[in-house]
Amino acid sequence: MKSIPIVAGNWKMYKTIEEGISFVGKIQNRILDTVDAKVIFCPPFTALFPIVDSMGQHPFGVGAQNVHHESHGAFTGEISIDMLKSAGVDYVIIGHSERRHVFGETDRWINKKIHAVIESGLIPLFCIGETLEDRQSGQTSAVLKAQIELGLSGLTEINPDQFIVAYEPVWAIGTGETASVEQIETAHKDVKGILTSLFEANGAHIPILYGGSVNADNAKSLIQAEGVDGFLIGGASLKIESFCHIVETVAAHY
Ligand code: PEP
Repeated sequence: MKSIPIVAGNWKMYKTIEEGISFVGKIQNRILDTVDAKVIFCPPFTALFPIVDSMGQHPFGVGAQNVHHESHGAFTGEISIDMLKSAGVDYVIIGHSERRHVFGETDRWINKKIHAVIESGLIPLFCIGETLEDRQSGQTSAVLKAQIELGLSGLTEINPDQFIVAYEPVWAIGTGETASVEQIETAHKDVKGILTSLFEANGAHIPILYGGSVNADNAKSLIQAEGVDGFLIGGASLKIESFCHIVETVAAHY
């Protein structure tokens, strides 16, 4: 039996505290809290606690978009895991392509974050994905393998209920260009195979989300793709109508 699908909204650097609270409140007032999907909001750091605080008893998850692996120290501008935990956060996006490509985050750093987040009990939402150049040169599988093996290096076991992978081709993020169902199915099959070879049955049960220009129009065909357990959504997660429509579509067609 399949587990419940996951829809995570990565707000990136959008929405103030007031905008975020209002947005989540409006979504709570729709049927989303009763639908059969796990919804996770990933607002900017400043809005994390106010949003958790505003939701009260709720079925939604709240995730941060990044974290530092050290517990404390002279790391100007960084946020620790304990700070996130005290804000009521449950999930952390790690290795998003914008962190990798805009801020130069390496697999080595990502690996340290994965270890620290798993040890803390928070749930990593580990992002991987190839660039257009990688794809055009036939390197997609090799790049995904390297990102997974380096990112998860040193882990001897994994709890599939406490770990999420997001396959996000870099060329599809924020571009309006979605990967085809065939490309997604191939990549998800590869990722599942790599996770299974690392962690056996537990690896095979890790949920794998797709991300990259998911919207209200393409959500139905993409959630029906083999091996897709939900979405990580950027742009379309910022608008009530598109986000609600996607969540409802995922719940109905997974
Ligand atoms: C993302 O930021 O993870 C993402 C998938 O963005 P978008 O949906 O806008 O492509």
